[in-house]
Amino acid sequence: MHRVIQWSGGIGSWATAELVVREHPDDEVTLLFADVLIEDSDLYLFNADASERLGIPITRVCDGRPPFELFMDRRFLGNARIAPCSRALKQLPCRRWLGDHLDPASTVLYVGLEPSELRRVPGIVDGWKPWSVEFPLLHHTSVTKDDLLDWCRASGLTPPRLYRLGFSHNNCGGLCVRGGQAHWHRTLREFPDRFQWYEQQEQRFRAEHGNVAILKRQHCGRTSPLPLQQLRAEAGMAGVHPGALVDEGDFARYMRVLGLGERPRDRRRRLAVAR
Ligand code: SF4
Repeated sequence: MHRVIQWSGGIGSWATAELVVREHPDDEVTLLFADVLIEDSDLYLFNADASERLGIPITRVCDGRPPFELFMDRRFLGNARIAPCSRALKQLPCRRWLGDHLDPASTVLYVGLEPSELRRVPGIVDGWKPWSVEFPLLHHTSVTKDDLLDWCRASGLTPPRLYRLGFSHNNCGGLCVRGGQAHWHRTLREFPDRFQWYEQQEQRFRAEHGNVAILKRQHCGRTSPLPLQQLRAEAGMAGVHPGALVDEGDFARYMRVLGLGERPRDRRRRLAVAR
């Protein structure tokens, strides 16, 4: 049986990989990672560390577009209710790789859902058909994220820094469009330059497509868009001085300035893990 971990760079997928490797030491295991290009640089460092420790290379797939480019292409702004980026930039590239390399009859996929995410199981099982999916962490009903982070530290790895900063997930560098207002307030506090980058992109999207926003606000039974610019103004935070940012046309350099994307040394380490 071939065992494929849906590797996100989060603590749940790491713990899942550890469990699967222990339980099936003789089977082939793939760590399948869909790169959306704007992960926190520390996530790629964690990927390289964890992959070295497991002795399994990261199998990287990539659509080639970061989430906001997809939103522009689709003329649809991802939000808490509908996030096309998850399907287009993660599920579809993974599904293409699976179809090209493996047979559903002899493959099991593993997703690192934690017990608190039990309600997501039916949608994931349905969405991955004809591939079968298992969720090893759900057999450990009392396990918490803190337990997983402790296990990670005890294994000699440094957990991804977004958890230390209070984010509940290590994805899209704190810029997940599924996050609510509390999430975006945290991004504003911890990464004001990243927040401003998304604020600018959202403003450009609004200029072209009208009054829509990543966030929404409920007031007197009515729902209305809450642009990031307004959220920042209401929080009393000034924008980052434009001089502190670089020309967005140079995407790779822009990512480096914001601490996003894979650094060359981590890419070299990732590629060095023996196949
Ligand atoms: S983490 Fe959030 S923003 Fe990033 S691809 Fe997934 S749903 Fe989209």
